[in-house]
Amino acid sequence: MATVQTFWHVPANPGEADLWVCLSCLSEVYWRKVPRPACPSCQGVSTYEAFTLAAVQDWGTEDLIAKARAAVDAGEAQPAQAGRSL
Ligand SMILES: [Zn+2]
Repeated sequence: MATVQTFWHVPANPGEADLWVCLSCLSEVYWRKVPRPACPSCQGVSTYEAFTLAAVQDWGTEDLIAKARAAVDAGEAQPAQAGRSL
């Protein structure tokens, strides 16, 4: 049976960081969501904290930065959520 990763979805807060990084393994990063019940890489629970992309680029590894950029791109490519207007 395939295991499908599930997530807690974190509502966007204007002006606040929306990239969630696992501080235990520093190899997982998600945009406006956190994997549950635990980190898929290190199985850590409650290890995620929010950062801006600029912050991740400041201290992250190249791999983490690349994942963060991909997460932002994928997230912003999703269909507009209710409330967003052109
Ligand atoms: Zn982890």
